[in-house]
Amino acid sequence: MESTLSIIKPDAVAKNVIGKIVDRFESNGLRIAAMKKVQLSQADAEAFYAVHASRPFFGDLVKFMISGPVVVMVLEGENAVLKNRDLMGATNPREAAKGTIRADFADSIDANAVHGSDSLENAKIEIDFFFARREIN
Ligand code: GDP
Ligand code: MG
Repeated sequence: MESTLSIIKPDAVAKNVIGKIVDRFESNGLRIAAMKKVQLSQADAEAFYAVHASRPFFGDLVKFMISGPVVVMVLEGENAVLKNRDLMGATNPREAAKGTIRADFADSIDANAVHGSDSLENAKIEIDFFFARREIN
């Protein structure tokens, strides 16, 4: 059993497709162990994406992530980290495989509908960033 962090980004929340995205997870063997809707502050977004701080797109990424509320979730299941990444599809929706969340709901490389932890190690860090132990069930 693994746990991973998923974020439904502001573009997908604005499109009112939270339920459709959650259904992708539940239909593919992942369980929602925690979930909440959050308006990130600039400091929150900068801290969460600190690994990308030196990238040219960092400013745009932070601006986008605070442009509206997001839904953060802990997904639980067998191979949850990799399974979530597979369900998400490639970072650039134009390169995302057919039937993936990004292929179906994302508009561009920055407004790309979802975030998912990229390793078990980062999943633990990202889950701790958003959730207290009592919120994960
Ligand atoms: P992910 O793990 O697939 O989300 O991709 P990365 O960890 O490489 O990048 C984090 C996020 O930064 C992506 O999901 C995009 O929202 C954004 N991003 C990545 N590359 C670019 C880029 O070239 N331009 C812009 N504007 N945003 C990008
Ligand atoms: Mg990443």
